[in-house]
Amino acid sequence: TSTRGNRHAVPRVGIMGGTFDPIHNGHLVAASEVAWVYDLDEVIFVPTGRPVFKLDKHVTNAEDRYLMTVIATASNPKFTVSRVDIDRPGVTYTIDTLRDIRALRPDAELFFITGADAVAEIVRWKDADRMWDLAHFVAVTRPGYSSSIKGLNIDALPEGKVDLLEIPALAISSTDVRRRSEAGEPVWYLVPDGVVQYIGKHGLYGRG
Ligand code: ATP
Ligand code: MG
Repeated sequence: TSTRGNRHAVPRVGIMGGTFDPIHNGHLVAASEVAWVYDLDEVIFVPTGRPVFKLDKHVTNAEDRYLMTVIATASNPKFTVSRVDIDRPGVTYTIDTLRDIRALRPDAELFFITGADAVAEIVRWKDADRMWDLAHFVAVTRPGYSSSIKGLNIDALPEGKVDLLEIPALAISSTDVRRRSEAGEPVWYLVPDGVVQYIGKHGLYGRG
C-alpha cells in the first residue's frame, strides 16, 4: 500500500543548498522533482553565506539572495527557506549546514539535493566522510554536465551513498541569468516573475 502524500511518522526533509545568485527555475524543478520521487514532506532551501568554492568571485549580498529565494518559493506549500548558512559567520561548509538542519529537525530523515556538477566536488568538501551519516545525497542531472554515474567520480564516493536522479533538463545557470541581466537581455521565464522584478527594483546585476 502506498503512503505517498501522507505525512510520514519520520518526516522526510530535503535540503537544497545553493548560492542562489539569483535562484532560477532549474533550482525549483530540481527540488520539486526530488520532492516527488522521494515523497518528501518539505524541502528547505538554504542560501549559502560565503560559498567555499566561490571565495575568489563577487557574490551578491546574502540578504538579497535570501529574499529572492523566499519570493521564488513562497507559493509552494512544501518549500521553506532557512537562514542557517547566511547567519553563521565565515565560509559556508556543507557539513555545518547538515548539522544545523539536523539540530532544527532532530526527528527527520534528511535528503541533501545537489546538481551533477556540484556532486563532483563532494569529496573535496570539509569532513566529507562524516556527511554520509547525516543525510542521503541525491545528485540530479544538469545539462552540460555529465549525467552518467560514471561521469561522477564515484570511485572516491562511498558506495550507495549518492543516488543519481534524471530530471527534466533546464539549461539555466545563475551565471547566465547575471550575464543576461548585465547585457539588458530578458530573463523572463528563466527565473520566477517576482525574481525578475526584484532584480529590476534593486538594480542587481547592473539593472537599475
Ligand atoms: P552559478 O552559475 O552562479 O554557479 P548555478 O546556476 O550553478 O549558479 P548554484 O546556486 O551554484 O546555481 O546551484 C545550487 C545547486 O543547484 C547546485 O547543486 C547546482 O548543481 C544545482 N543546479 C543549478 N542549476 C541547475 C540546473 N539547471 N539543473 C539542475 N541542477 C541545477
Ligand atoms: Mg553553480
